[in-house]
Amino acid sequence: MPEDRETPFIVIFTDLDGTLLDHASYNWRAAEPALEHCKRLNIPIILASSKTRAEMGVLRNAMGLQYPFISENGGGLSFPAVNGEKAPPGASLVENMWQLSLGTPYGQLVSALREIREELGWSIRGFSDMQPEEISHVTGLDLDASRLAAEREFDEPFFLEKGAGEKDLLYRAARRRGLNITQGGRFYHLHGDNDKGEAAKRLTSWYREAHPRVLTAAFGDSPNDFGMLKQVEYPVLIRSFRDFPGIEAVIPGVRLSREKGPKGWNTMVLNLLAEKLN
Ligand SMILES: [Mg+2]
Repeated sequence: MPEDRETPFIVIFTDLDGTLLDHASYNWRAAEPALEHCKRLNIPIILASSKTRAEMGVLRNAMGLQYPFISENGGGLSFPAVNGEKAPPGASLVENMWQLSLGTPYGQLVSALREIREELGWSIRGFSDMQPEEISHVTGLDLDASRLAAEREFDEPFFLEKGAGEKDLLYRAARRRGLNITQGGRFYHLHGDNDKGEAAKRLTSWYREAHPRVLTAAFGDSPNDFGMLKQVEYPVLIRSFRDFPGIEAVIPGVRLSREKGPKGWNTMVLNLLAEKLN
């Protein structure tokens, strides 16, 4: 793609579950036309998910994407290590990728969730309480994928069983410990001060150093994507089984897809390219 002042260098940040991946089947077939189009134009597609680095590495390879990615709700940022290029400041080399840690270490999150459970007397079940078989049962992932999902670094997914009280108590118990809770498509997530938006911001400055005119777009379906959507010039909310009345006030300029999941992603990415590249 020629780069000049008129043609922007588009960078796409995207959530996975319920956005680029179908909520139930986890496949992205319906998004393939737009995905292939972006690859041909060398438009970076930055996967940003609550999934682990291990899970995302596998998906990224399967999709044929060579770009940086954001794992565990912005806790981890991984960049391909390119020979001769300098590592991003503060990054360490892990399995041929530069890794930046922006989140609270997993061990601290697990201890905090146990304390919160005792304090509230609720039945709270986190990934750290589950074997891969149970993770597979609650997520619908196969056993191998469930093992990768259990390799957590910066984010503890959990759900509430019967008998949970006012959700505010839960959020406050986390805040008192300097931690945050966000709601994804399937689970609540306990994590530190990281979010997808902050990680997207870092990556955007990284791209701006190399390209004269960067245009950022983001695609997501859940409240844990809102920070990222607010961070970009072209935010898109992908339709899901939930409604977010008043979302336009929370995310100015947000566009809503008509179709759910990867089908909505496909249409909205093609719209973005048609609108901004012609
Ligand atoms: Mg999602």
